[in-house]
Amino acid sequence: MTTSLDAAPPPAPQTSTSELWGHPKGLYVCFFTEMWERFSFYGMKVLLLLYLTKYHLFTDAAGYDLLGAYAGLVYAMPVIGGLVADRYLGMRKSVVLGGILLCCGHLGMAFEGEQARVIDGGVVQDALSIEVFYFSLALIVMGVGFLKPNISTIVGRLYPDGDARQDSGFTLFYMGINVGAFLSALVCGWLGETHGWNWGFGAAGVGMLIGLGVFLSGQRHLQGQAEPRDPPALRRRVLGALNLEAVIHAAVICGVFVVWYLIRRPVAVHWTMHATATALVLGMGWFLWTRCTRQQAQQMLVLTALILFSMVFWALYEQTYGSWILFSDRVMEREAFGIEWTASQLASLGAFFIFVLSPLFAWLWPRLDRAGRNPSTPAKFGLGIVFAGLSFVVLAIGARSPGNSGMVALWWFVAAYFVLEVGELLLSPIGLSAVTSLSVPRVVSLMMGAWFLASAYSEVVAAWLGKLSSVEPGADGGIDVAHALSRYADLFSNLGWIGLGAGVVVLLLTPILRRGMHGVK
Ligand code: GLN
Repeated sequence: MTTSLDAAPPPAPQTSTSELWGHPKGLYVCFFTEMWERFSFYGMKVLLLLYLTKYHLFTDAAGYDLLGAYAGLVYAMPVIGGLVADRYLGMRKSVVLGGILLCCGHLGMAFEGEQARVIDGGVVQDALSIEVFYFSLALIVMGVGFLKPNISTIVGRLYPDGDARQDSGFTLFYMGINVGAFLSALVCGWLGETHGWNWGFGAAGVGMLIGLGVFLSGQRHLQGQAEPRDPPALRRRVLGALNLEAVIHAAVICGVFVVWYLIRRPVAVHWTMHATATALVLGMGWFLWTRCTRQQAQQMLVLTALILFSMVFWALYEQTYGSWILFSDRVMEREAFGIEWTASQLASLGAFFIFVLSPLFAWLWPRLDRAGRNPSTPAKFGLGIVFAGLSFVVLAIGARSPGNSGMVALWWFVAAYFVLEVGELLLSPIGLSAVTSLSVPRVVSLMMGAWFLASAYSEVVAAWLGKLSSVEPGADGGIDVAHALSRYADLFSNLGWIGLGAGVVVLLLTPILRRGMHGVK
């Protein structure tokens, strides 16, 4: 029996004519598209919790709940975006669709309405602007779902199988992600916190418009690797005058309304994620059983294990957009080089260290490889999680050693970010690369979706963990710094231990996992 999943594989990537600086030209198209997409994504994300708690006067707990629900959905949707791309739309069309939705969503965020006020001890919010805000978030969720997994999969497709440049290609791609994240935290964070939230969100929207423009003008360099599996099927009429492609677009629009409904209901979001994960596991079980050789099944199982481990890393990492933001806003000195940085701007430190360290790692892997000393993917994962744990140890020590002013010195935060980012580079780009090389090619976008689904779970867990450090302002609207510090310090040291413990477990399992990889690097 054949299904559309079994249709002809994409053409083999060409190697010589379409290269620039040792990599396929398409890599640079993906690099800049994703750079601008992440500019808009993180420009919005660094402002989100501050905007909710300071402008719409959400409590910390309600702010974390919404952050978790939004970020959970944003990373769960790539399962659907990946699946639809694998089976029907292809990656190129999916990226364009996602890009359009993202432009609408980010520009919608720039509508901020009236600031919430406290009247007779109760908070009065502008209901209409909050609805527009939720709808904009829904558009972003759907947009990321279609863009993010597929642009990452295209990168893997640009290299012939077993090409040693693939890990470096992903490290460079990852650098693009972080150039975007870095600039956006600086620009959107500064505009949003000092000139007005709508300026920050608006700037994010403009970034996404540029990203879409880059992709539309550069898509011819993708070497036909991102086309639909079965183009005539997309043109076939399936509903009255509507062809399949139009029906998919209509379904996506309906999906935006579903997400709009879900986003304010964290419990419903959790169940949606559980349902998605269950469907994915059942579908994968069926696929492994009926469509894979023994070796492919083992490789897919190793990939699944790696995806599960990545969850620990992301649950720690995502504190940077939650508890770390409120920590730096409330209990930390933020002055350096004569400038008082805003909390959202300081979130740029993560991306800054990534692109300082990326060239080093991009150089290191092929070199270690040639010397026969390249650590295996599971070992890199284990080390990555250990480093994430260590960064929390650093920050916990900082939180327990405030200066004379009672606030924590900025350099603890800088050091913690540095350590965390070494961990991120050990795990995240390597993970993307592992997805494309360990997955059976026919379901690679779907597995990329599964990779991001792990992030989705981590986002929910991260928000739940962040909530443990909630502090509510006193009657005068101020925060008790000493009390807040002790809550942050407790959370950070617990997370430090969790990271160290989990990382060591992964390192111990490395030999077993390596065997299941059957030589794939
Ligand atoms: N920071 C990376 C990105 O934006 C990874 C995010 C994730 O997978 N959770 O792509």
